[in-house]
Amino acid sequence: MILVTGGAGFIGANFILEWLRNADEPVLNLDKLTYAGNLETLASLEGDPRYAFVQGDICDKALIDRLLLKHRPRAIVHFAAESHVDRSIHGPGDFIQTNIIGTFSLLESVRAYFGMIHEDERSAFRFLHVSTDEVYGSLAKGDPAFSETNRVEPNSPYSASKAASDHLVRAYHHTYGLPVLTTNCSNNYGPFQFPEKLIPLMVVNALAGKSLPIYGDGQQIRDWLYVTDHCAAIRRVLEGGRLGETYNIGGWNEKPNIDIVHAICDLLDELRPRADGKSYREQITYVTDRPGHDRRYAIDATKIERELGWRPAETFETGIRKTVQWYLDHAQWVANVQSGAYREWLERQYGAR
Ligand code: NAD
Repeated sequence: MILVTGGAGFIGANFILEWLRNADEPVLNLDKLTYAGNLETLASLEGDPRYAFVQGDICDKALIDRLLLKHRPRAIVHFAAESHVDRSIHGPGDFIQTNIIGTFSLLESVRAYFGMIHEDERSAFRFLHVSTDEVYGSLAKGDPAFSETNRVEPNSPYSASKAASDHLVRAYHHTYGLPVLTTNCSNNYGPFQFPEKLIPLMVVNALAGKSLPIYGDGQQIRDWLYVTDHCAAIRRVLEGGRLGETYNIGGWNEKPNIDIVHAICDLLDELRPRADGKSYREQITYVTDRPGHDRRYAIDATKIERELGWRPAETFETGIRKTVQWYLDHAQWVANVQSGAYREWLERQYGAR
């Protein structure tokens, strides 16, 4: 079995759903259920004997120690994190606690566990740390894309906390011989993303007739990857990645934010036209830029392609169409997330917490 941390979040939940679609190996999902954790996303796994959920904090060392000894996972895929840059600017404390202290605490438990298991379990064991391209800082136009050997120059409390966790994971490999793998991925989008992030926020606001706020001039460039392509890349690294190595994951899809918002508006114009016949582009408004807003991220994914034969299956055009259609088809999921109704559902399903 594998242990997934943060499996009730956007990427972790997609990863679990994909994992169980592709394999019968059971998954234990450990998640604290912060505002970003949503078990409704995993409701289709209700009663599936291959899936179990434990509500808990990665900082709770006694709990993690117990879970490891009880379930003896052959791998851990570590997604749990505070993940929203804007929130990290307003309140960095939780980011330091979960992303740095939490990863440290988890590594300590894993180190003890690794020391206790049998030799054959040890050779199969992997700890895969899921991280972001934001640790590399910002690129200027024309700079080469981030490779795994780039300097680490984080600019937000979020990216600084992720960079710190990446360093800890690396150190536990070199110091204690833990069999670790790290992935640094670009911006993900797709089904089940909490509507505080750019793409779902724009879809949800557009449909609600609200403004579509664009930071600064909208020319900040990001690389975009459809979430199931990220999940497939993680599986590939888990299977074949070289221990102690870092793999960059990206979609070869560099786009300015304003182009993303235009693409969403154009798709909505086609799929759910406004009653007044005007374009959703009319709802775009420009707002003061985020402090320290990185100008450009771009990922060079040559290493994972060359060593592990991974390539994204979706182009931006196919992925964004699927995503917009998904949000149109899942208005109830969005409404529940926004109203907090899913927390009531959670209590009904699992009892008061
Ligand atoms: P998310 O915010 O949607 O989900 C995070 C999950 O972690 C939530 O379910 C939350 O309840 C859980 N969690 C938070 N603190 C916890 C704690 N202390 N103990 C246990 N669980 C806790 O995030 P996401 O977008 O799914 O990102 C997952 C991972 O991927 C993160 O590590 C993030 O840094 C990384 N990443 C995200 C992106 C992206 O575009 N979203 C890109 C690259 C890397």
